[in-house]
Amino acid sequence: MPSLQTVISCLSDYDPTALPVAHANRIIGEVVEPVRGIEQVPIRSALDRVLAEDIISPIDVPSHDNSAMDGYAFASSALQSAAGHVELEIAGTAFAGGGASSQPGAGKAVRIMTGAVMPEGCDTVVPQEFVEASADGSRIRFAADTVRAGDNRRLRGEDLARGQAALSAGRIIQPADLGLLASLGFAEVRVRRRLRVAFFSTGDELRSIGEPLDAGCVYDSNRYTLHGMLRRLNVELIDMGVVRDDPAALEAAFRSACENADAVITSGGVSVGEADYTKQIMASLGDVTFWKIAMRPGRPMAFGRIASGGRDALLFGLPGNPVAVMVTFYHFVRAALHRQMGASVPPLPLMRVRSAQAIRKKPGRTEYQRGILAPGQGGDWEVRITGQQGSGVLRSMSEANCFIVLAHEQDSVRAGDMVDVMLFDGLV
Ligand code: AMP
Ligand code: MG
Repeated sequence: MPSLQTVISCLSDYDPTALPVAHANRIIGEVVEPVRGIEQVPIRSALDRVLAEDIISPIDVPSHDNSAMDGYAFASSALQSAAGHVELEIAGTAFAGGGASSQPGAGKAVRIMTGAVMPEGCDTVVPQEFVEASADGSRIRFAADTVRAGDNRRLRGEDLARGQAALSAGRIIQPADLGLLASLGFAEVRVRRRLRVAFFSTGDELRSIGEPLDAGCVYDSNRYTLHGMLRRLNVELIDMGVVRDDPAALEAAFRSACENADAVITSGGVSVGEADYTKQIMASLGDVTFWKIAMRPGRPMAFGRIASGGRDALLFGLPGNPVAVMVTFYHFVRAALHRQMGASVPPLPLMRVRSAQAIRKKPGRTEYQRGILAPGQGGDWEVRITGQQGSGVLRSMSEANCFIVLAHEQDSVRAGDMVDVMLFDGLV
């Protein structure tokens, strides 16, 4: 595993006091490695887990040519000879699950249900609503131009051919994948073990819910947002509560977190000029760097790896401000944890939409404004900020449904300009 120093020394323009978001992510990406453990689980339990192997289809899906409609199967040669209308005699019925029926012969058709195997020699199905049946039901008649050769037939292997890759290792398993695995006959699948993530809040002004709120104190909300964000990543949580600003308590907490988890996330105590001990203890336990990231909100962040008792863990020391915690989590920690859990997750799409209002912005930092994307008066979707954007105003996150991402070099936005938005749906 490369050390931070090695990674950083390869960057020509590294400046920890004004680090662009993209650089920080590049450094994190090079330091983080996937956990190795693998377990085999029943497919239902594999939802939201990270697939540890490529899934190769052992069969053709579907396994036979079959009908896509309820109707009548016949050989398409009957269409060529037809003058305007095709008349066929019914030679039998094919039900779904019933196996292959024999060739009906020239001038004949087989009544067929959706999913039933195409009879020998038949390549086309005319849907039942297009035919006229004789009074005794022994014959059908339909206009020759209602179907073309091959219509309404699903081909063997058309969904997946035997030997074809169905899912790739690293995929986070989605509901459709459970169905796909089932359609291939897999009862179990190999997934990476779940990550264990320990987290705690630091700061003497923090009170836990249920405690009296003394003058100058605030309730610890970061552990709750972290709980929510981590749950969505389907990791195992180790909530270590609030840790006092006391060297012995902090060291004990960091050591215990490190010995029991793959990653440790803290909030608070990493700002420049912060009087408390958090940064000292982090630095004393490993390879940790303290950044001022060129972003808003969320400037200060500690990142690295700490070790204790022969175990090590990634460390993310997030800022204390409640919105900054969420923004740094989504824009650094989320991708890092995905990488550590062995997941390959495509970047979330940025959509370009019109800003309903002017937004002040200075070049030289990335801003993540909290936005509400909604249809404007003309019906086109547009975005506006949620109002107060202070990094302590958690309501701005709660009301928002997207980030308005204002890129590093971007200047102020005028009302009506196009801006990038990242929807919370899929992110949070
Ligand atoms: P810090 O990064 O420690 O300087 O904290 C910045 C601001 O965030 C301060 O106003 C803290 O009171 C607040 N803060 C820090 N941790 C928490 C927390 N766990 N819950 C709510 N607010 C917090
Ligand atoms: Mg503090």
